Amino acid sequence: MCPRGARLLTGEGGLLERARSVCHCLLIEGAEGLVLVDTGFGRGDIEHPRQLGRVFSTIVSPQLDPAETAHAQVLALGFQPGDVRHIVTTHLDLDHSGGLPDFPDADVHLLSRELAAALSPDWRARTRYVAAHWRHGPRWVEHDAGGDQWMGFQAVRILPGAGGEIVLVPLPGHTLGHTGVAIRQGDGWLLHCGDAFFHHGEVQTPPYSPPGIRIFQDINQTDGKVRRENRERLRELAAAHGGEVELICSHDPYLLEQEPAPAFA
Ligand SMILES: [Zn+2]
Repeated sequence: MCPRGARLLTGEGGLLERARSVCHCLLIEGAEGLVLVDTGFGRGDIEHPRQLGRVFSTIVSPQLDPAETAHAQVLALGFQPGDVRHIVTTHLDLDHSGGLPDFPDADVHLLSRELAAALSPDWRARTRYVAAHWRHGPRWVEHDAGGDQWMGFQAVRILPGAGGEIVLVPLPGHTLGHTGVAIRQGDGWLLHCGDAFFHHGEVQTPPYSPPGIRIFQDINQTDGKVRRENRERLRELAAAHGGEVELICSHDPYLLEQEPAPAFA
């Protein structure tokens, strides 16, 4: 995605220059097949870009390159789309759910609150959710923000048997049912924080957040207080357990390029 305002959004570049933002998805080889965390934009968005809405497309300017879809990247790795048995979504915003129709046979794991919010959006949420992303009837697997614990966070263990253990770590605020996804890698964890933060500086100590990111987050939130509290807890987690837990988010290209491809047994 290439919104204008690079300096405000990243702290670098010109005021009107386009920034670069990514949709950071993960593909995990588990014992039961492939697990996809978030799906970015999908083939349907490329065929019918108007379903994303004119305001979103004008402001965010998604590039909609077929080669960048999860579907194309799964094929390029030598797998079939049907090998993706599970999808785990941080939330159902349009830039995270577009690939759902490309994997119709997968179980789609998410928090119940997010599914309810997306299927019956109130007037403020109407433009963030695209009903075409679930018109095919996904195999939803709803989870409640449950009683497990993970690194001091409330958590839900969802795929204990899938090679790398996968845990939902609810991080509401951006949307009602927004969740992080923790994946065990060796002795440590990779925590995909979705849109709980947008710039790596937000979870560094001392924290840094470009002004344009702050404005964008304030506009696109369902509960600002809870969102800021969760982001602060993530910063504390990174400060206390940085060697054990690696934090990534959805849209920061710096964190996509930093990420080494982890090897799962
Ligand atoms: Zn997003």
